[in-house]
Amino acid sequence: MLQLSPNIDKQIREHGAKDYPHECCGAMLGTDGGAAREVRALFPLINRRDDSPRNRFSITPEDFRAAERAAAERGLDLLGWYHSHPDHPARPSEFDREHAWPWYSYVIVSVEAGAPKDLTSWRLEDDRSKFQPEDVTSAQASTQAS
Ligand SMILES: [Zn+2]
Repeated sequence: MLQLSPNIDKQIREHGAKDYPHECCGAMLGTDGGAAREVRALFPLINRRDDSPRNRFSITPEDFRAAERAAAERGLDLLGWYHSHPDHPARPSEFDREHAWPWYSYVIVSVEAGAPKDLTSWRLEDDRSKFQPEDVTSAQASTQAS
């Protein structure tokens, strides 16, 4: 299960709306409690696929290192990645599967005519054959959390 604070949920949707009609993408930073992961911060990335920025997203080795550094600086783990699907359902494409890694959470937000709609999360199977849906909750962060 992937827990998003209400603010994180909003930030992903707003990023998708802002970059429409292009895809947005970014990293999700937080804590991995095993059964539940909690996303506490986002690290937006620039979509570098200049040839097809509307329907492809890719993460470069530089993006990966920058995201890991940003997580380490905050004392968090790199939990996964989010991107938007402009005018397409919030389901991973074949391109997404081919470019994904196991373990990470992949959040997709659909943006229809500029307005963010569905938000889903996916985990790639270890043999990389397909994605499995991951439950997403927008939980209020605990007030006791430091
Ligand atoms: Zn995609």
